Amino acid sequence: MKLIQGIHKFRSEVYPKERQLYVMLSGGQSPETLIITCSDSRIDPTRITSSYPGELFLIRNAGNLVPPYGTAAGSGELATIEYAVSVLNVKNIVVCGHSDCGAVSAMLHPEKLKDLPSVSAWLAHMERTRRVIHDNYSHLGPEQLLEIAIQENILVQLEHVMMHPAVSSRMLRGDLKLYGWYFEIHSAKVYGYDVTEGQFGEIETTTGELPMTRHRWLDGMTNEEKKAQKANSAPPAPGH
Ligand code: ZN
Repeated sequence: MKLIQGIHKFRSEVYPKERQLYVMLSGGQSPETLIITCSDSRIDPTRITSSYPGELFLIRNAGNLVPPYGTAAGSGELATIEYAVSVLNVKNIVVCGHSDCGAVSAMLHPEKLKDLPSVSAWLAHMERTRRVIHDNYSHLGPEQLLEIAIQENILVQLEHVMMHPAVSSRMLRGDLKLYGWYFEIHSAKVYGYDVTEGQFGEIETTTGELPMTRHRWLDGMTNEEKKAQKANSAPPAPGH
């Protein structure tokens, strides 16, 4: 097994340089950020954020989903969010989706799920995403549809995160921030959801920080509606 060689390599080459870090971490953890992302092997939250052990608290599952509060007693996701917020006092929660997500693709093509009852049941937490896509974007071609669905799903799951009382209460106090990120595999770029633009932009131009309110971030509109409103309210071109 390849991983055993990896452990030997880590022990002989990496650990000697980072020994102090591990000794320090043995006394406890105080990560600043909880990242909720997909189980997909192509995303490495630690690597893409240049982080070290002890810095990121992680939840990973198929589709970076969070069951809405009150609907899933005993949910590992809700328990982990609660612990991160109430005990570890994380300052940030990021929901990070990614291009070519198999879970979102399966939501769009439920016929692929007929022999996967557990996956099918799990994807019920994407039902609001499915509705948004079905009602607003069904005219799009398959590639664009998948990308929009992945991005809308990030926003829907952030809304689920905010439904947790521990989260909303800390957000009102102003010491917990939420972020929506989209990781594009081929370019390894990270995009953040920009509330003013109503779309994802490269992380150089937006932090992807969300305001402390629920319901489609301030105004109850989908991305598409926001773009339409922006186009209508644009000032007339010079000379007209
Ligand atoms: Zn995925």
